Amino acid sequence: MKVTRVETMAVNVPLEVPFLAGNLVKTAPHAILQAYTDDGLVGLGYCFSISPKGFNSMKAALDDLSEELLGENPLETERIAAKLHRAFSWEGPFGLFNMVQAAIDIALWDIAGKAYGQPLYRLLGGRRNRAPAYFSGALWRNFSPSELGQSAESIVKQGWKAMKMRLGGEQRAEDEVRRAQAVRSAIGDDIQLMVDINQGWSPPQAITMGRRLEPFNYYWIEDPVPHQDFAGSARVAAALDTAICAGEYHYGKEPFLRLIGEGCVDIAMIDLLRVGGITEWRKAAAVAETYGVPVASHLLPEVHAHLIAAVPNGLTTEYMPWSIPLFKETPALENGELVLTEKPGHGLELDMAAIARWKM
Ligand SMILES: [Mg+2]
Repeated sequence: MKVTRVETMAVNVPLEVPFLAGNLVKTAPHAILQAYTDDGLVGLGYCFSISPKGFNSMKAALDDLSEELLGENPLETERIAAKLHRAFSWEGPFGLFNMVQAAIDIALWDIAGKAYGQPLYRLLGGRRNRAPAYFSGALWRNFSPSELGQSAESIVKQGWKAMKMRLGGEQRAEDEVRRAQAVRSAIGDDIQLMVDINQGWSPPQAITMGRRLEPFNYYWIEDPVPHQDFAGSARVAAALDTAICAGEYHYGKEPFLRLIGEGCVDIAMIDLLRVGGITEWRKAAAVAETYGVPVASHLLPEVHAHLIAAVPNGLTTEYMPWSIPLFKETPALENGELVLTEKPGHGLELDMAAIARWKM
């Protein structure tokens, strides 16, 4: 089997709930790859940005790198990964290169699933056919405490048993506590609640705030300190009883060895794009497994649910619905878990009406 044709496109997907990240982010531009084989199979992969500037470079890099697939056997994922690294040995590794490599690797694993007639989760080990998940697409820092409460309630009504909010945006600790209170009192004690700081605190601040937030029973505190501060993260993790989750900002599998080995995290969060695709994601998860550390996913729940279900230490899937409107069908929520498809590959099929509406 050989790849005979590649096709890319750019689609600007509107976000149902805009959020503040410097500017108000209202769309997520996606770079989509379709790789066609001489057997008539099509592999679908994608990566995305939340910034139009960076996205132009991402799309150009995908155009450039995906041509390297032509004439290759799509099942030879490791050989192709090495070829991509050689082709981008000056600009890579990491950064934009990893994200584009991920889009290509996702398409290759989609082809593999279709070639073997198996859904991705089974191809990767098939530990379970469901993945625990939590809702992440709301409860932003630009919500007022009363909006937080209302939104949290509506998430529970949609059937979610776990959700994530953000803190780290307020000047005063009292205001952070008020926000935590608004969500916890809206959802009660039986719903699992995570909090993401997005690197917003210093280590001493994280320790003080972490203690102050203990009454709200957070399942984890995510990225309390800047991601390069391994020693600071280890101090926070040692000082607090609440689990520390981090990893999404790191590129490749190598940083996970440090994050875990140096006691920076209790739960490792792996970003499918930054790690460099499914091939590298599994290796990062295996590093964590070796240490008995569970892994959670970052973004792309429609692909990540397969990975969380497949690996022995898969904990939970972040349900961020940014890419969902692109597809005809995505894993459905049932009893707090995402139910995986039995269709071969990742099972995602582009909704061409949506594509036509948002094509750039
Ligand atoms: Mg996060």
